Amino acid sequence: MADIIRLLPDHVANQIAAGEVVQRPASVVKELLENAIDAQASDIQLIVKDGGKTLIQVVDNGIGMTETDARLSFERHATSKIQKAEDLFNLHTKGFRGEALASIAAISHVEMMTRTQDDEVGTHIKIEGSKIVGQEVAVVPKGTSMLVKNLFFNIPARRNFLKSDQVEFRHITDEFHRVALAHPQISFSFYNNGSDVFNLPNNDFKKRIVQVFGRKTNEKLVPINEETNVVKISGYIQKPEFAKKSRGEQFFFANNRFIKSPYLHHAVLGAFEGLIKSGTHPGYFIRLDVDPSTIDINIHPTKTEVKFDDEHTLYAYLKSTIKHSLGQFNVVPSLDFEK
Ligand code: ADP
Ligand code: MG
Repeated sequence: MADIIRLLPDHVANQIAAGEVVQRPASVVKELLENAIDAQASDIQLIVKDGGKTLIQVVDNGIGMTETDARLSFERHATSKIQKAEDLFNLHTKGFRGEALASIAAISHVEMMTRTQDDEVGTHIKIEGSKIVGQEVAVVPKGTSMLVKNLFFNIPARRNFLKSDQVEFRHITDEFHRVALAHPQISFSFYNNGSDVFNLPNNDFKKRIVQVFGRKTNEKLVPINEETNVVKISGYIQKPEFAKKSRGEQFFFANNRFIKSPYLHHAVLGAFEGLIKSGTHPGYFIRLDVDPSTIDINIHPTKTEVKFDDEHTLYAYLKSTIKHSLGQFNVVPSLDFEK
């Protein structure tokens, strides 16, 4: 029998990888915002149209790319963020897989404009379905603009699977909230179909929460702040009386990255036990800062699931930190009677 195994061409491999990285427009938004943050931007604009289906643009004032880097950035496993396997265990950036731009470019029409501080002129590249279809020198501001049009243009099944513009817009907004909350020191603006959704000047964490969720949030927040040699826990919990029927304002950030953790969520619920009615949910904005070598982020391509080295201790400590704050700020006079 003849040999039948062959290596897939890059554009096919990219399209397959794209399936994991890009589920919907909000996934593109997340990847582009994270790249802007990794590029040390202090100001980031997000522009979307039609729930991101026809257009997503992220403009940053970060370090930009040289012409060669601009071309290389769309290759799979091309990254400036790690160099060796050990780096995976000590990550300081959001990205490191070098997959996002290759994946996005495989399934959409992308236009990138970028310039570094040292270059007088920048680069404008157009890519459609992984193929560079245009490149020219461009007079552009320092930083990078990534424009992603016609998502899933070459995968009709995926395109048809997308929900209404409103639903996709809501997913994008959720992603925007997570990133904007994780990085209060960065200014963000967000435009949808030509009108502003958010305009958030840089701020501290509390004010950013209020910018995002409204002025009424201010009075609901109780600070938490404790530190051991393994973790620094900070942020805010909402007073028990503001617990809501719907879940919603529940955020964990580990080293400035939004994460999902059913396990730590359970610890929070434990701290609120007896203080909120059953069927209601406490709000929280909790930051966990740990040594990057004690957290594994490389579990899933979207990196929202992470593994902490000593989760049991973290669980117990988080629970007691919250209880302590609830007591200290006198939100719960009866707390003294608790064990
Ligand atoms: P990763 O972020 O995992 O490295 P990406 O595919 O998202 O992979 O990006 C590839 C590379 O392109 C990055 O490592 C970075 O060097 C460069 N890059 C992407 N976006 C930007 C940006 N907004 N500003 C500067 N460089 C960028
Ligand atoms: Mg990236």
